[in-house]
Amino acid sequence: MRILALPGDGIGPEITAATLRVLAQVTADFGLGLEIEEADIGFSALQSQGSTLPDAVMARAREADGVILGPVSHLDYPSRDKGGINPSSELRVKLDLYANIRPNRAREGLSILRKPMDLIIVRENTEGFYSDRNMFAGSGEFMPDEDMALSVRKVTAKASNRIARVGFELARARRKKLTAVHKANVLKLSDGLFLREVRKVAQDFPDVTLEEMIVDAAAAHLIRRPDSFDVIVTTNMFGDILSDEAAELSGSLGLGGSLNRGDSLCVAQAQHGSAPDIAGQNKANPTSLILSTAMLLDWMASRHNAPQLARAAFAITDAVEACLADPARRTADLGGPLGTIAFTDQIIAALAQGE
Ligand code: ATP
Ligand code: MG
Repeated sequence: MRILALPGDGIGPEITAATLRVLAQVTADFGLGLEIEEADIGFSALQSQGSTLPDAVMARAREADGVILGPVSHLDYPSRDKGGINPSSELRVKLDLYANIRPNRAREGLSILRKPMDLIIVRENTEGFYSDRNMFAGSGEFMPDEDMALSVRKVTAKASNRIARVGFELARARRKKLTAVHKANVLKLSDGLFLREVRKVAQDFPDVTLEEMIVDAAAAHLIRRPDSFDVIVTTNMFGDILSDEAAELSGSLGLGGSLNRGDSLCVAQAQHGSAPDIAGQNKANPTSLILSTAMLLDWMASRHNAPQLARAAFAITDAVEACLADPARRTADLGGPLGTIAFTDQIIAALAQGE
């Protein structure tokens, strides 16, 4: 099996290098027989090949069994006709990676919450309020005159239905509660359609309790009673915002794993962005991308019926948790003394000890 790693911009190369060290270690330890390749995207690819996502890289991603995507600084890219493509949204849309799975958990000593939190946010990934993902692709926002701007939000029955199904399936395997987060009181048609499909899918999951919650209430409840959530399913932008909130509540943006899931390919991607303020300083916490990669291995394990991949995913998660549980083995964002490289050394040492 082949995994393609795309390091990206900002802290991307540092956290991808850390992730690949951990992956190489479990590949050897568990005899995974994984081939790991790297390709350039982002600013370095723009410089050398004229595009932040060269066609050849896209083709290799399509053929890979899994992809590890570093964060990208797409807000600073030139326009598309000058080679600036947002690799993250391009991969999600072109490879139909419709479900973005974002687990977040409060760990003792790291979370500011007074109550436990262990939830998964399932975010629709291919449409919504993102101007590059609607029928006016590339121009979903426009200005009829210089003092008015309009944005178009796309919600379809098909995308709502399949994302709801992912949410219900995950909830069924956990604490059997799904919260559908929406703003149907204002966005009556689009979120109304989303809710209609969630309720339809609910009929196939009588064992899962469905709760419906308005997004502003959900943002507040995440802080006041995080223990009331199991799986949250929501549209693209609400999921983006709530998952940053949940990651930060868990202790740091650098902690949350994230998997972009399609039917035949998955892309592991950190929940956070490219953090240009700390790039190149050996300060970044690589946990998010490492845990995302463990999620990728787990998904590949079920897809290819390869239990050793699941064991490797479990070992990675355990080793990361052992380090996070120890204040002396944490990175600076968590108040710890370690840089990216030393923290990765500790994860590898924890793997060797079967911690
Ligand atoms: P982008 O435009 O790529 O999203 P950003 O400026 O929004 O970049 P984020 O990556 O979203 O930056 O990060 C927001 C803040 O959280 C920054 O101060 C950043 O340093 C911090 N941060 C994000 N990820 C990490 C990480 N993995 N380790 C440590 N700090 C992080
Ligand atoms: Mg950001």
